[in-house]
Amino acid sequence: MTQLPDAKGFFGDHGGQFLPPEIIAVMDDLNAAFDKYKDDPEFIEEYKYYQRHYTGRPSPLYLCENLTKAMGGAKIYLKREDLNHLGAHKVNNTVGQILLAKRMGKKKIIAETGAGQHGVATAATAALMGMECTIVMGAEDIERQKLNVFRMRMMGADVVPAMSGQRTLKEAVDEALGLWIQDAQNTFYLLGSAVGPHPYPAMVKHFQAVIGREAKEQIMELENRLPDYLVACVGGGSNAIGLFADFLGDEQVKIHGVEPAGRGLTPGDHAASLTLGTPGVLHGFTSYMLQDEKGEAAPVYSISAGLDYPSVGPEHSYLKDIGRAEYYTASDAEAVEAFFALSRTEGIIPALESAHALAHAMKLAPTLDKDKIILINLSGRGDKDVAQIEEMLSAGQIQAPV
Ligand SMILES: *Cc1c(COP(=O)(O)O)cnc(C)c1O
Repeated sequence: MTQLPDAKGFFGDHGGQFLPPEIIAVMDDLNAAFDKYKDDPEFIEEYKYYQRHYTGRPSPLYLCENLTKAMGGAKIYLKREDLNHLGAHKVNNTVGQILLAKRMGKKKIIAETGAGQHGVATAATAALMGMECTIVMGAEDIERQKLNVFRMRMMGADVVPAMSGQRTLKEAVDEALGLWIQDAQNTFYLLGSAVGPHPYPAMVKHFQAVIGREAKEQIMELENRLPDYLVACVGGGSNAIGLFADFLGDEQVKIHGVEPAGRGLTPGDHAASLTLGTPGVLHGFTSYMLQDEKGEAAPVYSISAGLDYPSVGPEHSYLKDIGRAEYYTASDAEAVEAFFALSRTEGIIPALESAHALAHAMKLAPTLDKDKIILINLSGRGDKDVAQIEEMLSAGQIQAPV
C-alpha cells in the first residue's frame, strides 16, 4: 500500500492526471519538487518548526469521558485538530505546500475555497511567507460566509468571486484552475484537499499524515494499544486520509469515513460521492463522483459547506474498492444532534463537518463493548458555524435539544 500512487498517480483505478498537455509539464515540475523536498532534512526541519510554533502541534488526543458515559459503550477519543491555529486541520497542508512553493521560487499563490476554511488557512500562510495571494470563492459562498471573506482580506488576500454554475466550490475550483493556467510559471496552485491531479492527492496526504502519526503515538501512550475504530468525515478526504494513513497497515483497526447525507439520499440533497457515486473525471482526476447522464458533476448539498463536493479523493475510492475502509453517511439532522451533544457533554463546539464523524461514532459506540476504542478526528472547531446554527434555530429549521 505504501507503493501507491503508481508512477502515473493512480490508486488502483482512481486518480491520475487528466489535464491539457501544457499543464502536464507544470505538474511534472511540481511532482519533482515534492519528491525532492519531502525527504530533504532542511525542508522537514522547517516544516516541523512551523507545525510546532505556528500551528501549535502536536494537537491533543482527548478522552470524552462524559460522552462515552452518555453513549454507554466504546471509549470515545478525539484528535483535537480543532485546536490548531486557524481552527482546523487545513493549516497542516497549507504550511507544507507554501514551503514547497517557496523552494520552487514561486511568488504568487492561488487557491480555491468552499466555506472559506481553506481560503483562510491559505491567506494566513501566504501572509506568513510574504507571498501574493488570490482566493477564488463561489459567489454564493461569498454571500454565505462573509466573515471568512473578511478574514482573508484582513490578511491581505484578494478574494475573487466564481460566477458560473451553482457558484459554489466546484465552480471555484474550475475558475481558480483557469486563472492559474494563465500564469502557471510564477504561480503555485495550493490545493486544499486530497483531490485533483497527481501529485496533489499524495502531497496533501503527506502533509496531513501528521494527524495519524501523532494519534497513534498518543493512543499507545494512553492505552498501550491501537484503537478499534477510526472515524473521520469525508469532503474531499484530506482530514480522513491524514488520520487513516499511518493505520492502513494495521489490519485490526477498522476504518470508517463519513459522508454528508444532507437532507436525504435523493439527487441534489446530499454529497455522498463514495456511497452513491460512479467513476468519473472532474478537476483533473478520476474517482467516484456524483454525476448526471452527461458525465457532468451533479449538484450537491450539505449543511456544512466544507463537505459539499461532488467527487472525492482517489485514495478513498481505492480503499473502498479493496475493502480496507468503509464509508457511511450522516444526515444534516444527525450532524446537528452531534454538534449539540459534544457542546453539552464536553464543552467542545465541533465544526459541522466534524459533527458528521461524531454522529457516526455516536451510532457506533453503543453497539460496542466498553473496552473498545473509537478514535474520531475532530477536524475543526465550530465557532465558524455558530451564527448559522443560531439562524436555523430562530427560523425554526432545527430544534435545540432540551
Ligand atoms: C474543509 C474541512 C473539512 C473537509 O475537507 P476534507 O478534505 O474532507 O478534510 C472537514 N472538516 C473541516 C473542519 C474543514 O474545514
